[in-house]
Amino acid sequence: TQQRTVRGALIGCGFFAENQMRAWRDLHEMGKGVEIVALCDRDPQRLAYFRDLFGVEAAYTEAETLFAAFAGELDFVDIATTTPSHAALVPLAARHGVDIICQKPFAGSLENASRLIAQCSASRVSLGIHENFRWQHAVRQTIETLRSGRIGRPFFGRISYRSGFDVYAAQPYLARAERFILEDLGIHVLDIARALFGEVARLSCETTRINAAIAGEDVATLMLQHDDGITSVVDCSYATRLADDPFPQSLIEVDGVHGSLRLRQDFVLEIHDTGGHCVVQTVRPEPPAWSESPWVPIQASVLAFQADWLEAYRQNRPIETRGEDNYNTLALVEAAYEAAATHQSVIPERWN
Ligand code: NAD
Repeated sequence: TQQRTVRGALIGCGFFAENQMRAWRDLHEMGKGVEIVALCDRDPQRLAYFRDLFGVEAAYTEAETLFAAFAGELDFVDIATTTPSHAALVPLAARHGVDIICQKPFAGSLENASRLIAQCSASRVSLGIHENFRWQHAVRQTIETLRSGRIGRPFFGRISYRSGFDVYAAQPYLARAERFILEDLGIHVLDIARALFGEVARLSCETTRINAAIAGEDVATLMLQHDDGITSVVDCSYATRLADDPFPQSLIEVDGVHGSLRLRQDFVLEIHDTGGHCVVQTVRPEPPAWSESPWVPIQASVLAFQADWLEAYRQNRPIETRGEDNYNTLALVEAAYEAAATHQSVIPERWN
């Protein structure tokens, strides 16, 4: 049976949104029945670039104008702008009754996050956060192997993201941000920690800045105590010099009572059992045709996230990283900054 085409608009035609548009186009070409029918960016040059690149004629510099022009014709909006604009764009979309995907960090404070969640729920629209790291193929395979019970109950984990990649070239705003690695990257790694080990009862954190040319911290080391008694270490750095830089891979260790998992660099997942044996799996992502090194794992995860979002939309089920869930990831970032400032362990806020 022919499924109805789900129609969306993209707001924010910036650096990362190009991946999102390519992924929507892939899903369209795979016959998944989804189409981006309108674009918005307040920067006319970015707007024109996307309009020409993706052949979407309906292009607006004001989101209000877009919603007015497409009243009743849109199913969803994909908000790919940076955080400060979300506080106005999310309620605007909610008032127009369209389901929402919003890039991380979806709010600049927990207060704002609560407000956006409440507004979406009052307007009966879904709020899904574009959190793709738990959808990276290698990370997903690690999560699913753990969830399958293969190594038994976990008691320790480490998620490590250490790189010297020049992220400031494509995203110059990152060099100016007072809060940098925890808010931009740590948020993803902390979300992986929640996907693996569940909610966090308390955490501690130390940060530092190595690169003198940026405003925020570029190194952060955290210890998390999860509800289930699991202890995890999350460590992030954009100041680590390595000949074989793993950017943008997260490396993962999980120790369980019946074995251990090691997600090594370059997509190797080791599953160790209690008898001293180890099964080695290749968990390399399938590269989308448009992907390019070193971004392949992230670009593939954008496609995986959006495919899951679309399936969830059709099945009328919530996605894993809906607003209420992602609130708890945002809360870990807030708690980490507080812990780093006070050198005390902090009990993170939690949704409900
Ligand atoms: P960017 O600055 O390149 O793009 C943002 C675009 O939004 C710009 O073109 C800007 O003109 C437009 N914009 C801003 N406010 C607007 C408004 N009110 N109305 C219309 N257009 C508006 O930023 P980016 O690097 O693409 O990052 C965007 C978001 O994506 C950030 O929140 C970032 O954290 C996130 N991001 C996520 C990942 C990931 O892996 N999930 C990776 C990179 C960036």
